[in-house]
Amino acid sequence: MSSEKKGINTICTHVGELEDKTYKGAVSPLYMSTSYAFEGVDIKRYPRYFNTPNQMALSQKIAALEHAETAMIFGSGMAAVSTAILAFLQAGDHIILQRMLYGGTYSLITEQLNKFGIEYSFIDESRPETFEKAIRPTTRVVYIETPSNPLLTITDIRAFARIAKRHGIISLIDNTFASPVNQNPIDLGIDVVIHSATKYMGGHSDILAGAVACSKAHMEPIFQLAKNLGGSLSDYTVWLLERSIKTMGIRVKAQNENAQKLAEFLENHSDIARVYYPGLPTHPDHELAKSQMHGFGGMMSFELNEALDASLFQKSLKLIKSSMSLAGVESTVLSPTQTSHALLSAEERAKQGIKDGLIRFSVGIEETEDLVQDIEQAVAEVKKRQMAVQP
Ligand SMILES: *Cc1c(COP(=O)(O)O)cnc(C)c1O
Repeated sequence: MSSEKKGINTICTHVGELEDKTYKGAVSPLYMSTSYAFEGVDIKRYPRYFNTPNQMALSQKIAALEHAETAMIFGSGMAAVSTAILAFLQAGDHIILQRMLYGGTYSLITEQLNKFGIEYSFIDESRPETFEKAIRPTTRVVYIETPSNPLLTITDIRAFARIAKRHGIISLIDNTFASPVNQNPIDLGIDVVIHSATKYMGGHSDILAGAVACSKAHMEPIFQLAKNLGGSLSDYTVWLLERSIKTMGIRVKAQNENAQKLAEFLENHSDIARVYYPGLPTHPDHELAKSQMHGFGGMMSFELNEALDASLFQKSLKLIKSSMSLAGVESTVLSPTQTSHALLSAEERAKQGIKDGLIRFSVGIEETEDLVQDIEQAVAEVKKRQMAVQP
């Protein structure tokens, strides 16, 4: 099915599905071959060439979701991130990135680029003026992530894309936190959109995958490097990911709604010091978020009042699980200091504004009331336990 003028849920359900011509089954057949004929065929297929039937079909769906000409699926979000970044850079080139980045991306840059002779600059405030000032004659790529992990800062996508275009710089965005349901950066002028499909696309905390969506021209170098690096995804997982994406629209919309209500609840709670959620009018970039997102997403962070032990709070939650990853249908929390940003030095974390007691909250699809109740009982438990140990 073509994606022209189809709504998000219809794209999720139908675009790119493979027809079962033999048995007329309702879902895409799964082709697990790693070996295909090379004679008398238009495409020489091989999983690491990213062109098996299931890979190509799902790529169509992802391209449609991101309003892109084409897309590719990777074995992980980091395979997508690293391949897309390295595809446009060579020795002597320079890349500008916002400092507020997914921990793995930050490590990729700081641990690997030097050995390829690629220079990089992080901009502390992801503001368009700061970006423009950091541009050098050798700058080839700018890389942003919005909303960011874990403080949900918002970068002005249109402004970054516009400045990049003016200077002939390729713009890349990590669109994982928003998902294609809430944000379509290509419509705002961005060249290349990257996803950790492990998150909202997979949505059930059981698939590791990545995706890139862009024009055919921008995909060419990404595809050439991808074949060399070999970060493709098993067709079985591609097939599972197709199934997951069918419900992405309704899942994410439910998560948006839940997150908005919970953010408001937390903001008005006397034991909560601070809430970071772009859907709150008190978020410093709420208006900007409104201007570039269709929904504010299921991710937020918050800090308890200083007197309350954040780690004890997380242990006291019963329904909400403490978990490393995010974006599943189940609500989870984590401490960025102990997990996603553990590899950064305390100094780096402070620079990014990540306090030790910060709690990142991935809101699931449970009933809002049950989540509220769980938070209330955990706060009460922390107070009770802390009272007990005080002299
Ligand atoms: C998880 C994540 C990644 C990395 O994806 P993996 O699938 O774990 O490799 C990149 N960016 C963001 C924003 C993420 O949340």
